[in-house]
Amino acid sequence: MTATPERYARSIADLTRSKKTLAGGVSSNVRLGDKPFPLFFDRGLGSHLWDVDGNEYIDYVLGRGPLLLGHTPKEVVQATVDQLWRGQIYAAQHELEYELSERVSRIIPCADLVRFGISGSEAVHGALRLARAATGRQTVLKFEGQYHGWLDNILYSLSPDPTRAGHALHPATLAESSGQFSGADSHVVVLPWNNIEVLSQYLEQHHNEIAAIITEPVMCNTAVIPPLPGYLEAMRDLCTQHGVVLIFDEVITGFRLSLAGAQGRFNIKPDLTIFGKAIANGMPISCLAGREQFMGLIAQGKVGHGGTYNSLPAAVAGAIATLDLLEKDGAAVYDTLETTGQSLMQGIRNLTAKHDIQAVIQGYGAIFYLGFPVQGANLPVGQAITDYRSSLAMDNDLYTIFVSAMVDRGVRIIPRGNWFLSSAHNQADVESTLKAIEEVFAEVIA
Ligand code: PLP
Repeated sequence: MTATPERYARSIADLTRSKKTLAGGVSSNVRLGDKPFPLFFDRGLGSHLWDVDGNEYIDYVLGRGPLLLGHTPKEVVQATVDQLWRGQIYAAQHELEYELSERVSRIIPCADLVRFGISGSEAVHGALRLARAATGRQTVLKFEGQYHGWLDNILYSLSPDPTRAGHALHPATLAESSGQFSGADSHVVVLPWNNIEVLSQYLEQHHNEIAAIITEPVMCNTAVIPPLPGYLEAMRDLCTQHGVVLIFDEVITGFRLSLAGAQGRFNIKPDLTIFGKAIANGMPISCLAGREQFMGLIAQGKVGHGGTYNSLPAAVAGAIATLDLLEKDGAAVYDTLETTGQSLMQGIRNLTAKHDIQAVIQGYGAIFYLGFPVQGANLPVGQAITDYRSSLAMDNDLYTIFVSAMVDRGVRIIPRGNWFLSSAHNQADVESTLKAIEEVFAEVIA
């Protein structure tokens, strides 16, 4: 399980106990893959997290993205708690709800109208349903290596087995889970990302069938791959030309890459968009937003959208408090994220050079990727990974060893290579992290 079981004695006992009644000992399958194994945590503050054995971590997992301001920022917690004492749920309208929708509509370029839910997965579900209703077409086009939630009609080709995934330019539509509804795959087309020729040719021939293109505007779920220059602009133009609904899934990039998300950072207006995670710094709320032409179908009751917990008052209060901080301190928050993240990335680059270790480091200050290529992989210097197939040149087994060794040294990172930063991370965290990396490079990897 781990090289140092005594360090995790209580977590090991907890996992053994919980597995007896909680399927796999976890509440989300992604946590099954945590290294060295699914640990149990006790509390978080700022950029730090403590497990039940009292071990302290610098946290680059950050709830897998939500904690843009770090753990338990005073203002967000206070607003949430204050609201809880005024009632947990009304299942009816409240004034904070339109305060938040007005705020989102002002901040997000395409958000004429907004609806709130709980998870990103269900907001994606709503966007796909809207696109089908608006166009009368059935098929959705997604990209290999991207993730849009765990629901049946879109859980395809996130990390497909390359021996079954078909031609790189025309990948197969592969279900990620057994038990997925067997008819759904005939209405999902998978293409490689960052390749405008393939997309353009496909739409030329099939646009009459395609209701929507759904994309992460930065491919965060594989190697934090930025869009190639002009790619998203060309995608936008193709969608307009062919009457295809463009959906930006900003569950990770939203409020993280800029206050107005990736669409603000790259200045591209999708038709529909989805936010979750960072919008409320850890409180459960998602947001489906977009142009009136589409969202109006929900307003008119033609397209169904519902949920008992939608617009949960405490989560809405948490979101407003988060946006208050992001709007008030916006420049400082985003500057800190960029400066701290870039300083860490540069420090890692220096260490890989010093220890003669091949590595790919790419992305942004607020979220970046680190991976080690397999022996003999001939990757160009610089930004090496541009799509899912080029990510297969990375050595996942070696990275897993790296992750466990880092956790043992008090730095918590995601096994898939993504590093999330918060505005609570500082230069002292960067220095301690680099010290741990240097130790791991010297003692474990080199
Ligand atoms: N879309 C993207 C890009 C995501 O990364 C995720 C989750 O990580 C989702 C959608 C699903 O969101 P949720 O886990 O809130 O259902």
